Amino acid sequence: LMLLTKKLIEIRTILLSIDHNETLKLPSIVVVGSQSSGKSSVLEAIVGHEFLPKGNNMVTRRPIELTLIHTPGEDEDYGEFPQLGLGKIHDFKKVQKTLFDLNMAVPESECVSDEPIELRIYSANVPDLTLIDLPGYIQISNRNQPEMLKHKIEELCDKYIREPNIILAVCAANVDLANSPALRASRRIDPLGMRTIGVITKMDLVAPEVGVGILRNSDYPLHLGYIGVVCRSPGDSLRTNSSAVIKHEQDFFHQHLMYNQRDIHVGTGTLRQKLMHVLEQSMGRSLYGIVDAVQLELEETRYQFKVQYNDRRVTAESYVAETIDSLKHNFKDFAGQFGKPQVRHEIADLNKASPDDFYWLYKVDLAAAALTKSGIGRMTTQLVVDVLMNNMERLTHAEQFQHHPDTQKQIMNFTSEIMRSKFLTTSDQVENTIKPYKYEVEVTDSEWSEGVKRSILLLEKELAMCDQMANNIKNAVGKSKLKAAIRHVLDADREDTRRQERLQQLAKDGNGSSEDYIYEDDDVKPIYNPRLIEKAKEALFLRDRAMILKYRLAALKSRQCKSADNKQYCPEAFLNVIAEKLTYTAVMFIQVELLNEFFFQFPREVDDRLVYQMNRRQIQQFAKENPPIAKHLALMERKTKLEEVMDKLNYLVKRQADRQEKPKPT
Ligand code: GDP
Repeated sequence: LMLLTKKLIEIRTILLSIDHNETLKLPSIVVVGSQSSGKSSVLEAIVGHEFLPKGNNMVTRRPIELTLIHTPGEDEDYGEFPQLGLGKIHDFKKVQKTLFDLNMAVPESECVSDEPIELRIYSANVPDLTLIDLPGYIQISNRNQPEMLKHKIEELCDKYIREPNIILAVCAANVDLANSPALRASRRIDPLGMRTIGVITKMDLVAPEVGVGILRNSDYPLHLGYIGVVCRSPGDSLRTNSSAVIKHEQDFFHQHLMYNQRDIHVGTGTLRQKLMHVLEQSMGRSLYGIVDAVQLELEETRYQFKVQYNDRRVTAESYVAETIDSLKHNFKDFAGQFGKPQVRHEIADLNKASPDDFYWLYKVDLAAAALTKSGIGRMTTQLVVDVLMNNMERLTHAEQFQHHPDTQKQIMNFTSEIMRSKFLTTSDQVENTIKPYKYEVEVTDSEWSEGVKRSILLLEKELAMCDQMANNIKNAVGKSKLKAAIRHVLDADREDTRRQERLQQLAKDGNGSSEDYIYEDDDVKPIYNPRLIEKAKEALFLRDRAMILKYRLAALKSRQCKSADNKQYCPEAFLNVIAEKLTYTAVMFIQVELLNEFFFQFPREVDDRLVYQMNRRQIQQFAKENPPIAKHLALMERKTKLEEVMDKLNYLVKRQADRQEKPKPT
């Protein structure tokens, strides 16, 4: 019957979910009245449940957008807060508590907020209606309710009682209508009372003659008229039993025959009918306006979609898949590049103890023990784990994850979990296999000669570097200049030593002071630039070092070093052989136990822990973490919803047209 209202309420709900746009407005019934006028009682009588918060301390601080949805065949009534996603709430005490909490979340200092609370109530016993409950007008300001609050409430109400909304002005019968702020506001904005319904509550508190007088409304005529109600049964002020209230109301109006006249409208039932009727008519009037508005909005949205995204569609799901794919792709690239040679490279760095550190060590065995003893397994494994973790950090901080810090954390968490689970086995394996080396390192002839070769190569490389650097200095400074500076440095050194000796001699002899001596010296000598002196010192250092390297090379190439039996004469070669053996073992086990395992497991964990774990909501949320994607999705959603609304509206327009063509059955 009231199909138009029902359909347009559905449409209104969809439009509200896109935005609270002023242009896409469908009429709603706005309930205004002073505090304690009986506003809540009327609303509860219409709904048939007690669900509004009660109390003296301004319990309505936000507008409540109440959508009643007639659901024939549904046994149980329930409420829903679409903004909160709590699901169906069958217990209306809980609805009441939730409303109370939502209202109380507005701080006392702000008094009221114009952010609406959406509440939907589904029941077989409610008509399809949208009602907006607003904070009650306050009459007299006092300490708790200052003038400022009074204005704020009035402003809020003014915002809602605009076209095309229907105003339900609630006044108590026992208060002079002239004092009703609800009627006053309505007259200001709707002077003819074309869209105002007067609801006179507490009819039981006035004599029937007075009551009838008020309802005839000769002082404040309203086009839509007045309806009198009684919304409380006596002695039942706390718990309202709706059927008892309605029974009481019916009995009351039956008792008083004066209310039984044709031009007098009383009772909650009549009020409901009236609301349905008025809303249906109002919806009908709004239909063509909203069709135009939606059409315009839809065209604009389609245009934007074309211009901004070239009609390219994206979904949260496809975005998640793309992001994860690129992670896996990058991971695969990394895994492909990080194999034995890379592990070897990392570990070799660790084992390449600088030859200088043990050069003076004659006891080669001691050095070998030091190398094999100290938890090489742990160290090498840790080193590779660190390198892997660094790389994973890099992968998860790649561009596609910059908007998803939580997911980054999650990935790093299970990455380190996998590492932890492999760490001990790997390092134990390495440790176990090198254990025999702690007692004895057997070296075959070929291993030895390889070791010698490698050591020679190393030293030659270093020597070449030394020469290169020395040459650089020579070229920068100039050969003869450098030579002179070097001579000066050497002279000064010699002079220094001599001076030192003389000072000591003087001190021993006991004549003259050291100061005398200091001023007496320094004949005319060329003055050298301190930077040049620095260079000269560097060149000298390199010369010394090259000399030592040459000695070491000579040792390695000598007959002494031809055989492993002489390892005590060739510590470099021997330690090199040990380092090579350790590295080989470590690389092998780290590759098998750590790398392969990790490379196998990681992509599976990504699927198990990220992709398969996400529900629809989380997928949406993930996509919306990325602002450009969120914008894209929002525009698409807007377009889809507007298209859906347009379809529904077209159907309604056609239906209205059909109905107007057909003559009404009499
Ligand atoms: P609100 O502040 O405008 O929402 O008013 P309420 O609905 O909370 O009602 C204020 C007081 O008036 C409460 O104590 C109600 O029990 C009482 N009340 C509401 N309707 C009636 C009625 O029809 N008759 C009588 N006698 N009292 C009523």
